[in-house]
Amino acid sequence: MCEYSTLAEPYKIKMVEKISLIPKEEREKRIAEAGYNQFGLKAEDIFIDILTDSGTGAMSDHQWSALMLGDESYAGSRSFYRLEKSVQNITGYKYFVPTHQGRGAENVLFPLLIKEGQDSISNMHFDTTKAHVELNGGRAVDCVIPEAYDTGLNHPFKGNMDNDRLEKIILEKGAENIAFIIITITCNSAGGQPVSLKNIKETKKIADRYGIKIIFDSARFAENAYFIQKREEEYRHCSILEIVREVFSYGDAITMSAKKDGIVNMGGLIAIKEDLELFNGVRTRVVPIEGFPTYGGLSGRDMDALAVGFTEVVEESYLSSRIRQVEYLGKLLSEGGVPIQNPVGGHAVFVDAKKFLPHIPYYNFPAQALCVELYREAGVRGVEIGSFLLGNDPDTGKQLESALELLRLTIPRRVYTDNHMEVVAKALINIYKRRDEIKGYEIEEEPEILRHFTAKLKPVE
Ligand SMILES: *Cc1c(COP(=O)(O)O)cnc(C)c1O
Repeated sequence: MCEYSTLAEPYKIKMVEKISLIPKEEREKRIAEAGYNQFGLKAEDIFIDILTDSGTGAMSDHQWSALMLGDESYAGSRSFYRLEKSVQNITGYKYFVPTHQGRGAENVLFPLLIKEGQDSISNMHFDTTKAHVELNGGRAVDCVIPEAYDTGLNHPFKGNMDNDRLEKIILEKGAENIAFIIITITCNSAGGQPVSLKNIKETKKIADRYGIKIIFDSARFAENAYFIQKREEEYRHCSILEIVREVFSYGDAITMSAKKDGIVNMGGLIAIKEDLELFNGVRTRVVPIEGFPTYGGLSGRDMDALAVGFTEVVEESYLSSRIRQVEYLGKLLSEGGVPIQNPVGGHAVFVDAKKFLPHIPYYNFPAQALCVELYREAGVRGVEIGSFLLGNDPDTGKQLESALELLRLTIPRRVYTDNHMEVVAKALINIYKRRDEIKGYEIEEEPEILRHFTAKLKPVE
């Protein structure tokens, strides 16, 4: 089989941004100055930055030219109406407001839906989503299938909701004490793992049985649809757009961080299927928090670029090249013996640091040690998802142990080539060969909350 069109990226490059690898001694100095915390590094000291796929994508020529059409009117901007049309095209929903990013959408919508003491049930809450549930007096309950926690196990839809457990929780707690069910597509915290349409339909049935709303946390809605098309027989002949619309048809509202599948550097939104009362609440709240409802924290030009981004992200040629590149990195690592989460998700490859560095205990942060080592080796910046991120028990102040110790390699959209993936893989494979020499880290200083952004570490003697 040789399908030429799928062998290369479906775009060519019009503009480039210089990157370089600073010398090894410099890298040693920079990471020590940063307290062995990659968040403290300057971008100019990084060769390949795969910290996140959020807001780091490359816009197309069509998006850049759409910026010039931006209408910066305070109220009723043309850009808003163009974006509204684009949002309606992918969601089929009646109502929409823009927000400055995904967490802004959560901040506007959640207080209208959550009452003190209620639960929010999700396959897995993203961290800002969990924070906004808790800020409103709710409790965030994760209900993903148990297969999600087994990195070695292959399952086509590791982001699926455990629907039996979902119904049990509803019955135990009482439907009136459930604020909403929030389905995260793809399931970011489980490694960008998809949720199947079959699973979504089952969740919808349960939600209807008990009169509970379904919200989609939809940052990677297009990547999720691509996996459905490829892995769910029934949908093999559907277009991405048809699948996206069918998924959203089972929801009552969505929040979205457009910094991912919107392929813009900043933006977010709330869309509501048909509940006018909820929309009126959103429209009222968005004004003091984000801005007037026809701009919601975005410039007119940002809205225009996003309107175009939504048409590009559902193109199959784009999605297949995107997912293929992430798979390619996963394949190189697996072939080199590096333990990774299987199958790889839509936006990232997760290296299993517990298996990579079994001699480093959780309180010396094996995935963080690997993250530091990767920067030292090749100037590559990944991110730790493990005990360092998890932090201390708020009651006892003791370090919590994370179920998984992962190094996330998150691939920005349309930014790097396969050669960059090869550098990342080569560096990790070289580190793997000398893994026994790698030592852990301990905390030198840390703030009380969200410590992973600013804490300083030191090597264990
Ligand atoms: C990024 C993200 C958010 C938060 O969005 P921001 O744009 O970063 O504020 C919420 N949910 C999911 C699943 C995300 O990936």
